Amino acid sequence: MMKNNALAESIAVLDSILYIDGKFSKGKGSRLPVLNPATSEVIGHIAAATTDEIDAAVSAARHAFASWSKLVPKTRAIALHRLGDLIAADALNMAMIMTAEQGKPVNEAKGEILKLAEACHFYAEEATRVHGEIIPNDQQGFQSLVVREPIGVVAAITPWNYPAELVGWKLCASLAAGCSIVIKPAELTPFTALAIAQKCHAAGIPAGVVNVLTGKGSQVGQALVEHPQVDKIAFTGSSAVGLHIQQSCPQVKRLSLELGGNCPMIVTASADLDAAVKGAARRSFRNCGQICIAINRIYVHRAIYEEFVTQLAAAADALSVDNGLENPAADLGAMASAEPLDKTRTHLQDALVKGARLVAGGKAPEGIQYAKGHFFRPTVIADCKHSMQVMSEETFGPLVGVAPFDDLDEAISYANDTPYGLAAYCYAQNLTEIHRVSVGLDYGNVAINNVDAGIMNAAYGGRKQSGVGYEHGREELLEYFNFKHIRLHHGVEN
Ligand code: NAP
Ligand code: MG
Repeated sequence: MMKNNALAESIAVLDSILYIDGKFSKGKGSRLPVLNPATSEVIGHIAAATTDEIDAAVSAARHAFASWSKLVPKTRAIALHRLGDLIAADALNMAMIMTAEQGKPVNEAKGEILKLAEACHFYAEEATRVHGEIIPNDQQGFQSLVVREPIGVVAAITPWNYPAELVGWKLCASLAAGCSIVIKPAELTPFTALAIAQKCHAAGIPAGVVNVLTGKGSQVGQALVEHPQVDKIAFTGSSAVGLHIQQSCPQVKRLSLELGGNCPMIVTASADLDAAVKGAARRSFRNCGQICIAINRIYVHRAIYEEFVTQLAAAADALSVDNGLENPAADLGAMASAEPLDKTRTHLQDALVKGARLVAGGKAPEGIQYAKGHFFRPTVIADCKHSMQVMSEETFGPLVGVAPFDDLDEAISYANDTPYGLAAYCYAQNLTEIHRVSVGLDYGNVAINNVDAGIMNAAYGGRKQSGVGYEHGREELLEYFNFKHIRLHHGVEN
């Protein structure tokens, strides 16, 4: 039984619910449990959407698209502003729902909900700034207009690590552009998405414009990928599933794939050491490292290597790990499930067997209160080699590997020697070094002397196996438009 009655009630209302064509109703399919990862207790269930329910959601979206896309942008913007206000006003309640299913501490979850509200306002504003172009022709009497038209029905398929933001970016940009959307949230974190649907409903977004279907990715997600009436897939998740989606799509469809990463950080001899340690601790361990842009591996110039390792170990040891509902201000909560925790242990073991030095963490926190949850201490391993999994694969856990370097070009080439290309970080004060690193890193996002690689109004996307397409910024909005060239012969000669 959940200790918090208000939270239990909020979740009970969402239990086994689907949101189709403006109506919340109990799903007809089989039930799957949703667990609190800090305690392993069942907090509720989802209904696996049936084929009929999937068809109903897609056809509602198709129907709603016809009128939603024709509204003047200002009307859609007003609806999005209203949505942002409603979400911000209920941020704490929504945050607690998220913590109950995902594990991150409530304060952090609340920050994520507020960023979702910010995304609503940002895309509300962008909606009214969608411009076309007039292109000069090489003959008199012609004019070419390039206009942007919404793609149609979007299926958003999202992971569990940022249950609000990763739904929200797709939702806000789709709605701003004039698309309708069917959302399939991660099986682990469905209630946050359903809570967002409640807000869409309360904001008066017309029936069918937003729909939420729950269930397994391999069934419900796959059905959306294969559905002939879905015009675009907006996917965030692992590279393996992203590639599978690309390969299994039976029709030509627009795809955006925001996939995995194995993000490096380079710390040169000129770096502000304290700032670098602080940045490394934040971006390696926040959300238990379950971030696509988490730092996996750090290359530190040999002159400051030992000092950096000692300080990072101390910073990791200073972080608190706790039940995120009971201790909203904890630095780390429980990991979302057994799967990323197992992978973290595997990567740690692999590194230790191959000669890495454990300098912080390496185990679950001690105490009966942690016994049933997926907890792990933030872990730092030094003297890492490129052959270790932690240096080349995505861990998605609170583990970071550190290695020394002598030559900056060598560090850059190690940093780039990965199938991924999502985000990379560097701390340096020497301008030449900063320039060499910024130009040399083959990544979609490069943060220098900070570790917040994503901001709302700049394009965010991966290269190589980290994906195609962009979220955030104007660039994300373009992902939801088709361009149309209208070549008009008006016959007027200048
Ligand atoms: P995942 O296993 O790839 O799942 C992502 C979503 O896809 C879930 O909703 C999942 O459903 C669904 N899915 C699974 N198989 C499917 C199929 N055959 N067809 C359609 N949908 C399917 O990823 P995850 O484990 O939830 O999330 C962690 C991964 O996401 C990491 O690799 C991380 O790097 C990546 N990520 C990337 C970004 C970015 O912006 N680039 C941001 C965050 C996370 P279920 O719920 O049933 O599994
Ligand atoms: Mg998964």
